[in-house]
Amino acid sequence: MSAGTGRGAGRYAPSPSGDLHLGNLRTAILAWVLARRSDRAFHLRVEDLDRVRPGAEERQLADLAAIGLDWDGPVVRQSERDDVYGRALEQLSAQGRVYECYCTRREILEAPSAPHTPPGAYPGTCRDLTPAERERGRARMHELRREPALRLRAEVATWRVHDLFAGEVTGGVDDVVLRRGDGVVAYNLAVVVDDAATGIDQVTRADDLLASAPRQAYLAHLLGASAPEYAHVPLAVSPSGARLAKRDGAVTLRDRLERGESAGDVVERIGASLGLTGCHAASDVLARWDPATLPREPWVVDLPA
Ligand code: GLU
Repeated sequence: MSAGTGRGAGRYAPSPSGDLHLGNLRTAILAWVLARRSDRAFHLRVEDLDRVRPGAEERQLADLAAIGLDWDGPVVRQSERDDVYGRALEQLSAQGRVYECYCTRREILEAPSAPHTPPGAYPGTCRDLTPAERERGRARMHELRREPALRLRAEVATWRVHDLFAGEVTGGVDDVVLRRGDGVVAYNLAVVVDDAATGIDQVTRADDLLASAPRQAYLAHLLGASAPEYAHVPLAVSPSGARLAKRDGAVTLRDRLERGESAGDVVERIGASLGLTGCHAASDVLARWDPATLPREPWVVDLPA
């Protein structure tokens, strides 16, 4: 298998908050297949900055191996990369792109938003404060025993990305949080820094993150990195149409194994969702799947109890 040196890389980046369900496994297989079929390396990154459930990482890695995925190089863990994120913040700060934000979540939700901004976009309350206003903001944070969050001073309102399935996508860019009030680097910065630092030029993930791709690509641009090619794939949903979750019953690989199925049976179901019969390992999907045939609607996972 190619080590992919100089040939780019794809990745799968699970959050270790619990066991992987069939939707997660389908996204992982698609990420692996898209990377391998384009002769890229494939990396795993554990996004363990918050909501970590003890033991979940080990279980997730074992599950990914059980369905036939392999990966290059060591697993990257975000919890071990604080210094790298700190340097990226300094780099943005040196460009005058970082400011402190003293708003509470509630104030942001209640503030009137400008027209044409993405839903939930930050209205810019703390962007242009006077020094005296900043002093008051800091005093308030002190009372709340919080650090100010750090936000990006975005100089564009939109940015364009290329997605393998959605094509050219132009989406809103706002003053995203770079470091949260609890001192933890924000997801949007970590993901961009990590993808750039590990040579990722193909990002496959569920399409609930498509709306975040433009702001991430803009951040990559500010950090002097080129944007990856994106491949956002449909989410898995329950028969009721809600995003697939633990409450939907036996939806994880572990649950299926407990019910007497094999990892191959689970891959077979994932293959069937892609229009393929008789796939028992990720390599069968790699050999037979044509990305042009990816169903564009959510995958409705209707499992026997
Ligand atoms: N950790 C995120 C998730 O599990 C994926 C983030 C990404 O792929 O950029 O949904």
